[in-house]
Amino acid sequence: MLGLQLPDGPLRLACLGAHCDDVPIGAGATILRLLAEHPGSTVDWLVLCSDPTRADEEREAAAAFCADAASVEVRVESLPENVLPSISADVQALCAETARAGTHDLVIAPCPHDLHQDHRLLAEVAAQKWRDHPIWGYEIPKWDGDLRTPNLYVRLDDATAARKLDLLGRLYPSQHDRQWYDREVFSATLRLRGVEANHRWAEGFHARKTAV
Ligand SMILES: [Zn+2]
Repeated sequence: MLGLQLPDGPLRLACLGAHCDDVPIGAGATILRLLAEHPGSTVDWLVLCSDPTRADEEREAAAAFCADAASVEVRVESLPENVLPSISADVQALCAETARAGTHDLVIAPCPHDLHQDHRLLAEVAAQKWRDHPIWGYEIPKWDGDLRTPNLYVRLDDATAARKLDLLGRLYPSQHDRQWYDREVFSATLRLRGVEANHRWAEGFHARKTAV
């Protein structure tokens, strides 16, 4: 069980992404593990930027990664990419609506130090709207090179790591020609964080504060 900050029974998760594919890349295997270990959990999945093609991909991905959930509420918005800091009021409003949807046991969001401005703004707003909730900030490998050593690791068994990699290989076909979107990048990140977690596979997160 992923105790520490989380109750033993069903969880209510909030999964937040600036863009389609952010949540599965950063935290897909953790979501698979959490939902398998906490039957009956529910998920509120919010993505801010999309176009119609990418929105369809994201809905399919959310359903696949949350297959073990009792229910998942997916909201894929169509805010413009790369300019979220200039429309932060819209981001505030969307996050506030999701935060009001229920009392979340865990919020999965981008890292505050992420160098993509959209990710960083969402991390900031998440900390404001879920200010007394545990928030795990996920990692997104990218050209900017902003990965830091995490302070929270979720260990993963072989099957869960493989399921994440297989799903990412099948989902998001619109992204498959991007030079950073391939199984090697996703696998290497899981393996590196696994080394740091004294395990084979892991996802790393940045949690600002822990209280038990
Ligand atoms: Zn992104």
